[in-house]
Amino acid sequence: MENQIILDGNLVSKNVKDSLIPRVEKLKEQGVTPCLATILVGDDPSSETYVRMKGNACARLGIDSRRIHLSEETTTEELLKTIHDLNEDTAVHGILLQHPVPSQIDERAAFEAIHIDKDVDGVTSLGFGQTTFGFGRYPSCTPAAILEIIDAYDLEVEGKHAVVIGRSPILGKPVSMMLLNRNATVTTCHSKTQNLPEIVRQADIIVAAVGKPNFIQGDWLKEGAVVLDAGYNKGNIGDVDYESCLPKSSAITPVPGGVGPVTISMLLKHTVDSAEETVKK
Ligand code: NAP
Repeated sequence: MENQIILDGNLVSKNVKDSLIPRVEKLKEQGVTPCLATILVGDDPSSETYVRMKGNACARLGIDSRRIHLSEETTTEELLKTIHDLNEDTAVHGILLQHPVPSQIDERAAFEAIHIDKDVDGVTSLGFGQTTFGFGRYPSCTPAAILEIIDAYDLEVEGKHAVVIGRSPILGKPVSMMLLNRNATVTTCHSKTQNLPEIVRQADIIVAAVGKPNFIQGDWLKEGAVVLDAGYNKGNIGDVDYESCLPKSSAITPVPGGVGPVTISMLLKHTVDSAEETVKK
C-alpha cells in the first residue's frame, strides 16, 4: 500500500522511556526512588525471562525493582501474605504478579489482593472497572501500549470500526473498552465467534489478542486496515500472519518490535506515575 506505516514499537517505547528520565530524576531529588516489586511463583523459564526483562528495564531507568521468587509449591495463602506485605511497604510503588501461577493457586484472588494504588499492571477487577468507566489510572499494560502506539502515530479511532480478537481480562476486554471510550465502534470476538473472517473484513482497526501464531490472514483484511498485533507466541511469532497482512494494511505492528516493547514501557510509566502519587499525598 502507498504511504504504509510500519508501527515501530521500539521507537515508541524509547520515547516513553526518555520521557520518564527527568521524572525519575525529580522523584529522586525529592527522596523517592520508584520501585516495582515483581512476584514470580514457580520456575517457568519464559516467566523467569519476562520478569528478568522487566527488572533490567527498571534498572536502565534508575527504577528500583524488587524480585520475589516463590517456590512452585506456594499456597494461595502464602502468596496473599506476600502481596499484603508489599501493599503495606511504602517503598514499593507497583506490584506485578507474573502470570501464569501454578494451578493450586487461586490466581484471581491473588490479583484482587493487589492494592489499587499499586496495581500498575491493571489486573484487579477494580482497575478494570475504572478503565471501563474511563478514569482508570493504570490500565493493563498491553492495552495501554496499543493506545500509546495509536496516539504516537496519530491514527484515527473515533467512528472507526475496531475488531478485537480475544476477550481476556488483561488484554481483549480492556482494550475493547478503551477503544470504545475513544468512540470507536467495537466488536469483540472470541473462540465461539462465528464467521470471524467476515467480521474482520469489516474492520478499520484490528487488534489481535488470540494467542495463536499467524492466525489472522491477509485475505480477512479490508484494504487499508490498521493492524495491531498483541500476540507473542513461541519463536517471536505474532497472532497476525505478517507476510499476507502487510500488503493490505495501511499501518501494522511487526512482531517482534511492535506492541511488546511498548508494554514494558507502560509498566515503567505506571510505576513512575504511582511513585509521583505518593509524593503528592
Ligand atoms: P488468552 O487469555 O489465552 O486469551 C485468548 C483469547 O483469544 C480468548 O478470549 C479466546 O476466546 C480467544 N480465542 C482463542 N481461539 C480463538 C479463535 N479460534 N477465534 C477467536 N478467538 C479465539 O490470551 P491473552 O493473555 O489475552 O494473550 C493473547 C496474546 O497476546 C498471546 O499471544 C499472548 O502471548 C500475547 N500477549 C502479549 C503481551 C505483550 O506484551 N505483547 C502481553 C500479554 C499477552 P475465549 O475467551 O472464548 O476462550
